[in-house]
Amino acid sequence: MNNVFIALGSNLGDRLGYLTRALNHLSSFGTLREVGYLYRSEAYGYLEQAHFYNSAVLLETKLAPVALLNILKEIEKRLGRKKRIRWGPREIDLDIIFFNRQLVQVDGLTIPHPDFHNRRFVLQPIADIAPDFQPLPRLNTVLQFLEQCTDTTKIKRISTKWYAYET
Ligand code: ADP
Ligand code: MG
Repeated sequence: MNNVFIALGSNLGDRLGYLTRALNHLSSFGTLREVGYLYRSEAYGYLEQAHFYNSAVLLETKLAPVALLNILKEIEKRLGRKKRIRWGPREIDLDIIFFNRQLVQVDGLTIPHPDFHNRRFVLQPIADIAPDFQPLPRLNTVLQFLEQCTDTTKIKRISTKWYAYET
């Protein structure tokens, strides 16, 4: 079994609805072990757009990294994500942040996600559910990465229990 941290974000339309539906889909590919708190974050990179809703989940799954990435892309498509500009608004974004404590570098997939340590909206919801997780051997815990993160983008916790899941 693989333990995978997935970051979720949405900044178009019914944002909470998209995150909820994404988790519903994900739950058929494994077990949702933990769901992070829900945050409202300023848009990153490209400012004239709506706030994001962000969270993260710990999924236990048998899927291998590339198979999981393909499933995530499929879920994004099912939820109506359209191709738009990079960093621009999107109905749903599902990123693999950590996959066990593995390094994965294949065409079109890099794990840990290359930007994870620069993004408070990624680190905070993972720190909620796994502060002591050490993504890479001999490096920081998630909480330490968060404490060292220099991202000044504001995030605000808006809910501690937004998704009802069974463990
Ligand atoms: P963003 O960088 O804003 O998440 P996209 O969601 O459009 O942009 O992703 C662009 C590409 O990033 C995807 O097609 C995917 O192949 C690639 N990618 C590389 N590493 C990862 C990862 N760890 N998780 C998700 N996508 C990844
Ligand atoms: Mg993405």
